[in-house]
Amino acid sequence: MVNSTSKKSKSFINVDPKSHFPIQNLPYGVFKPSIDSRERVGVAIGDYVLDLSVLERNGLFSDIPLKSENLFSRSTLNEFMSLGSDVWTKVRRAISNLLSFDEPILRDNESLRKEAFFKRDAVEMCMPVDIGDYTDFYASKYHAQNVGTMFRGAENALMPNYLHMPIGYHGRSSSIVISGTDIHRPMGQTKDDSLENPSFGASRMVDYELEMGAIIGAGNPLGTPVNIDNAHEHIFGLVLVNDWSARDIQKWEYQPLGPFLAKNFATSISPWVVTLDALEQFRIEGEKQDPQPLDYLKTEKEWAFNINLEVTIQGDDIKSPQIITRSNMRHLYWNIAQQLAHHTITGCNLRPGDMLATGTISGPDKNSRGCMLELTWKGTEPLSFPNGVTRKFIQDNDQVSMTGWCQGEDYRIGFGEVTGKLLKAK
Ligand code: MN
Repeated sequence: MVNSTSKKSKSFINVDPKSHFPIQNLPYGVFKPSIDSRERVGVAIGDYVLDLSVLERNGLFSDIPLKSENLFSRSTLNEFMSLGSDVWTKVRRAISNLLSFDEPILRDNESLRKEAFFKRDAVEMCMPVDIGDYTDFYASKYHAQNVGTMFRGAENALMPNYLHMPIGYHGRSSSIVISGTDIHRPMGQTKDDSLENPSFGASRMVDYELEMGAIIGAGNPLGTPVNIDNAHEHIFGLVLVNDWSARDIQKWEYQPLGPFLAKNFATSISPWVVTLDALEQFRIEGEKQDPQPLDYLKTEKEWAFNINLEVTIQGDDIKSPQIITRSNMRHLYWNIAQQLAHHTITGCNLRPGDMLATGTISGPDKNSRGCMLELTWKGTEPLSFPNGVTRKFIQDNDQVSMTGWCQGEDYRIGFGEVTGKLLKAK
């Protein structure tokens, strides 16, 4: 007897074992086949994008109550995500069946295949989600410890609240951009410790932050918190996030209300949203929490994920991408279910498409630090590259790329990449 899981784990589309997009993944994105065509929803499979609007038009989701027509001919995932986790799981199962090795509906229909598949490197990826609100946490204790030590000294590194709740701030969603978008070095106020007065100019300490973003699928009504045990019904999936930061602006402005202009000039995200369903088997025990969190922050289930994360940099004088961070999402102290429960405990309503980012994901080792501020210890220990070039922070024309993947037995569940180039100040 053939085991039904193993049948579904192979597609009639050939997928390289190192590809980020095997049939076990099936991340959602929004794409345009060509510049003058309209956006539509697709899933990545191997080197291809499968156009879900074509499948929908051909009645291949007719068993699933999608509630509205042309759900996948839209320019964002918001409407689909708002339908809730039962629908997400049913649609995922239907796509998985249609792509499986022994399912003839798509495999043997050449004209439908021609209409539905596009080469992934030939399409334009668009913002997958209309992000209404963006919240950024500070969930890696390693990161908080390092940054606190640099800004306030080792004695006061962690604020007294840190081990009791996930700390966060409300970010800016209007400046969230899709991978591949160039960023301009921001202008702003900074103040040198040795000088009495601040000055105005281009930031000299532009940095990246290696983060993951949880995309909210189904929202919660105003006044009704999300119980932590129901977090999986609200989180649709994850993307890679580069939360660009200007450290010199941050240092001068951040007290008493936290980061503001230092973080609002750009945040880049990867185009493919990897679903919680796809990540399920990569759940892992997280960092030990001591003291025990309050009851509303206690989870039954494991909510850390074993996702390898890497950051590379290249630039005018660094010709090939050089790895500068190797981290893992499992290093977070506060997991994404705790972030969600904490965010809504007051009754704050989340809406489909909102993004909760983790904050910089630094680990215990020096090379697992998730930003230049930590890697170079405020610029006092510059990074050196094999050709003798050094970096304290990001220079004009540097390109920063992040990638992430879970390693299965003979496949990877990957996130693709988020990349962006820093251009000179305008
Ligand atoms: Mn951040």
